[in-house]
Amino acid sequence: MNLIFLGPPGAGKGTVSQRFIEDVHIPQISTGDLLRDAVSAGSELGVEAKGYMDAGELVPDGLVIGLLQERIAKDDCHDGFILDGFPRTIPQAEALEAANVRIDKVINFDLKDDVIIRRLSGRRIHKASGKIYNVNPEGIPAVPADMAPEELLQRDDDQPEAIANRLVVYRNQTAPLISFYEERNVLATVDANLDLEPITRELKVILGM
Ligand code: AMP
Repeated sequence: MNLIFLGPPGAGKGTVSQRFIEDVHIPQISTGDLLRDAVSAGSELGVEAKGYMDAGELVPDGLVIGLLQERIAKDDCHDGFILDGFPRTIPQAEALEAANVRIDKVINFDLKDDVIIRRLSGRRIHKASGKIYNVNPEGIPAVPADMAPEELLQRDDDQPEAIANRLVVYRNQTAPLISFYEERNVLATVDANLDLEPITRELKVILGM
């Protein structure tokens, strides 16, 4: 099962993936995570990507496409994968087609801007596990009461200025993928304003599980 989770930042793509792969044992592949790993490792790619990421801009297609293709060639992708945050541009989607990567379903996470802003500004990442929590939980996992603030980090691009820019970038460069995949008859939309559990249930219905 090869899936794409498409939607604006803060839509819950990562949180739903983490919940979903507890039942379905396929990897969640987030190009954002791969890029952040490259930044932490200080690799040439990471150094080049960092400025774009901090500003909430997209990293150039040429850098991201290679990174993603290398990742999905690994053995653990044999039975499928969830692409979380890729493709984000039409050329990235075309690169998947050119490489004959079959896509079974594209899940479009649809939600309102005010919910996005609340989720992104409250998002915290548990450093040790990579798990996503929120200080404005409203139906998504809350920061556990026994977790110390120093165990958590707030992403540089979850600051107000970068959030606003990421929304503009999403509307201009990523949202056109909705019609791209509609035309290929693989698009299904979930109401991502809902809580984590109902979104996960809706997703399973779409996938016939
Ligand atoms: P994310 O964790 O998915 O929100 O991604 C964080 C940042 O990484 C984005 O704001 C972009 O700067 C960069 N990024 C992640 N995935 C892509 C992609 N598919 N294409 C271009 N840039 C990306």
